[in-house]
Amino acid sequence: MQNSSAIPDISTLYRLPFSKNDNPNGWVEITTDCNLRCPGCYRGCNRDDNIALHVPLEQVMANVLEMKRIRNCQIISLSGGEPLLHPDLESIVRFIRDNQMFPFVHTNGLLLTPELITRLKRAGLAGLIIRVDSLSRNRATTEEALNSVRQKYGEMVNAIGGIHLTFLCVVNKENIGEINSVVKWSITNAKLVDFITFIPMRQVLFQKTDVIDSSKWIYLQDLCEQIQSVIPDIRYASYLGSKVENTAMKWLQSPWIVMNNRILGYAGPKFVESFQMFHHLFKGKYAYKFGQGRSYLNFFQILIISVFLSDFRGVARSFFKEIISNPLNLFQRATVQLLCYIIPPGLVDGMRDECDGCPDAILYNGKLVPSCGLEEYKLFENQTDNIQKDDSYR
Ligand code: SF4
Repeated sequence: MQNSSAIPDISTLYRLPFSKNDNPNGWVEITTDCNLRCPGCYRGCNRDDNIALHVPLEQVMANVLEMKRIRNCQIISLSGGEPLLHPDLESIVRFIRDNQMFPFVHTNGLLLTPELITRLKRAGLAGLIIRVDSLSRNRATTEEALNSVRQKYGEMVNAIGGIHLTFLCVVNKENIGEINSVVKWSITNAKLVDFITFIPMRQVLFQKTDVIDSSKWIYLQDLCEQIQSVIPDIRYASYLGSKVENTAMKWLQSPWIVMNNRILGYAGPKFVESFQMFHHLFKGKYAYKFGQGRSYLNFFQILIISVFLSDFRGVARSFFKEIISNPLNLFQRATVQLLCYIIPPGLVDGMRDECDGCPDAILYNGKLVPSCGLEEYKLFENQTDNIQKDDSYR
């Protein structure tokens, strides 16, 4: 399946060292209530039979502590449903921070206001992961038009400061031709956004009789080819593999260094490897993000890194050219921005093709299961044989 020349050779990349019990992320869902009805919601919040419930505060706290105990998390991702609807969100955020982890909130953004972000920041909020895409709006708009929404949220979050910001964009055949505009917008607005993540749409089974329709699915090679058409020299650094296919990549990341609306260069595999190893050595856990809050590097930091890592020498040269063109650039900082693709499981040989080292695992009946597969675990109680077999689902 993964045979496009746009897909990097797996042997040139760094395999992120995440495992079940040593993973920077803990996934905690705090509500099944939502104020949007996105088609294909992985938790079924758009379905008429969805029961909208907030998880009680005590239970959320117990989940957070259990995640800390078994996962060694750097961050806790609060998800749902729409977490901003939970009446105890501030207390939850504070509890996570008090337990020496960074609280991140996944949201559709509709309820975000400067006042709410300020309150959450005071409680300890470290990051927002905002889903903005045309598929959640029934294709009533385009990805390019939605850049104004991304801009609005980016400016709102940045005005408060110190909050890591990710935009999620779910993609299928309908909108993949438009994602170049999202990438260009991200590079132009590197001062606002840290991560930009594309996730191919997949279908969740809610009934054993559901028939999977994969006709609009896209795959890693589609994402790589699309992005290469806007960034021909793109280089990737790190990945997570598949639990099933030997050389498939489920997460693929390109950390790049941006300044003055252009990519100065790429932080290569050795940078990510050194960062993760040093982070684990000194902080005892792997990292989901680079540094506290936003991630910047000044010229001198880039120079020092480039002494040790050859990948950074190109970044240093590009930065130097910016200084030559305008000496005031010496006092600027470049942003470390990350492009990430996450390929959710399809079915391969009747087995669930999960990400090896899944960072988004959730607790279900005391077991860790991928949050994207929770509904199937509930339906089949882990009897994946019952899931219909078709090699086209990947
Ligand atoms: S297995 Fe599913 S939940 Fe886990 S990281 Fe992959 S896509 Fe996300």
